[in-house]
Amino acid sequence: MKTSKQNKLHWTMCLECQGLGKKKRRIRKQDRLRYQKALVVFNKSDGQGKPPTPLKHSLYPCEKCNGSGIIPSATQPIPDTDNYPHIAIIGGGIGGVALAVACLHRNIPFTLYERDHNFDARSQGYGLTLQQASKAMSGFGILELDAGIISTRHVVHTTDGTVIGEWGFRKWMQTDSQNKGKKTNVHIPRQSLRLALLDQLPSHNDVQWGHKLIDFKINEGEKTELNFQVDGQIIKTYADLVVGADGIRSTVRKLLIGEDHSPLRYLDCIVILGICPLKNLKGIESDLLDSATVFQTANGNERIYMMPFSSDSIMWQLSFPMAENDAKLLSSQGSKALKKEACKRTLWHNPIPQIMEATNESQISGYPVYDRALLTDEELSQERQITLLGDAAHPMSPFKGQGANQALLDALSLARGITKGCKWSSDWKENGIREQVLTEFEAEMLARSTSKVKDSAAAAKFLHSEIVLLKDDAPRGSTLKKNDK
Ligand SMILES: Cc1cc2nc3c(=O)[nH]c(=O)nc-3n(C[C@H](O)[C@H](O)[C@H](O)COP(=O)(O)OP(=O)(O)OC[C@H]3O[C@@H](n4cnc5c(N)ncnc54)[C@H](O)[C@@H]3O)c2cc1C
Repeated sequence: MKTSKQNKLHWTMCLECQGLGKKKRRIRKQDRLRYQKALVVFNKSDGQGKPPTPLKHSLYPCEKCNGSGIIPSATQPIPDTDNYPHIAIIGGGIGGVALAVACLHRNIPFTLYERDHNFDARSQGYGLTLQQASKAMSGFGILELDAGIISTRHVVHTTDGTVIGEWGFRKWMQTDSQNKGKKTNVHIPRQSLRLALLDQLPSHNDVQWGHKLIDFKINEGEKTELNFQVDGQIIKTYADLVVGADGIRSTVRKLLIGEDHSPLRYLDCIVILGICPLKNLKGIESDLLDSATVFQTANGNERIYMMPFSSDSIMWQLSFPMAENDAKLLSSQGSKALKKEACKRTLWHNPIPQIMEATNESQISGYPVYDRALLTDEELSQERQITLLGDAAHPMSPFKGQGANQALLDALSLARGITKGCKWSSDWKENGIREQVLTEFEAEMLARSTSKVKDSAAAAKFLHSEIVLLKDDAPRGSTLKKNDK
């Protein structure tokens, strides 16, 4: 297995902000007095007046840790098994490994279980775009992503190559408007991001590889019993808190909520993905192949999205509407059939047909696109010591590039919640982890991710409609919003 070049630093929780990365600003005396006066007036008004809005502490980034919640440490943090609950993390994908790292830095004891036998067990060949989460990476002790590529230009075309939209740093530099502070996106292969997170653990052997969760048994007031299939045997373990980070087809979710209650929801389209080495494109001149440009081309039905995958390859994602059974059949036919279908549908402007032809079949995959209905607080809160995060909690279509971003934010939020809710003075053993941690964590996670799930489902429709063909120097989601008004 390859490891990243990053020098291993140890990290520990920042005591200044208790690992939260943010501190509360004191309420100014004059504001407090004004509020108290308004409250007196209201109380005298016999309920006739308007109650004053309660004062809230505003938050600001902690200066000591630069808002990350962690600071460098000379030694590896030691799990505090006396005070914190033991966490069983089910699933060693992006969200599960991120949670393990965030627990490690905060001395929270955990065990990470992954059904695959090793890191490279299955092809996970696609790239991710880190948006909000790119800033959050410092909260995992990752200051630089060696394999990350920053795009500085995003272009939208019609099929003959006419540019109908352009934005990004290069465009903003030309106009020098108020866009200067805008964020840039980082593109990174999913496995490189997963590896950068895994490298934060003392050893990759800290993952319990080859452990497939089969079921769990909840014993009221006691630890939850977990049963794993390991090399054909059933192994039992116990944990204070179980976190299902086991993806869109989550076993934890199925056991907790039931598949029938919240089945996969087909989003009426298929995606076909490919990764093409730039060396296969020798002799093709195009400024779209400069490893810093993201581009998309659409015709109102099919849409292709291309982004740098690594410094020497480009990733494409073709999507189009298709009946579910046809999409399942096509994906089951394998990469040769997928390539043929993709090439047939994209005889468009250069260099698209060349890229499609030059992509090796072994680097092509395709799937029908699904999400699930949004979870409610009640569904999630059925068990006192079990929760979900990432795709297990809020699967979404890939069209807004938000799934991994949300999984990373969930992981940080849960680890911070455990630190806050289970500190030594908290009585979490008596009060319960749900009351101390999970209710607040789940409310924050659902509030943050709901619009992403909805927008990602909407994108599965409008990216394959005429709306993508409107001229607008902005992502197509904003084009839709402007035209909806
Ligand atoms: C084509 C494509 C492009 C995407 N692009 C982006 C993007 O640009 N930006 C973005 O933010 N997101 C993107 N996403 C979404 C993103 O990949 C997912 O949202 C993210 O990987 C979810 O992370 P997760 O940890 O919740 O689940 P996963 O990464 O799916 O990990 C789940 C893990 O659980 C393990 N597991 C499953 N069942 C069990 C079990 N019973 N016992 C033990 N282990 C188990 C699995 O083996 C797996 O390792 C994209 C997705 C696709 C398909």
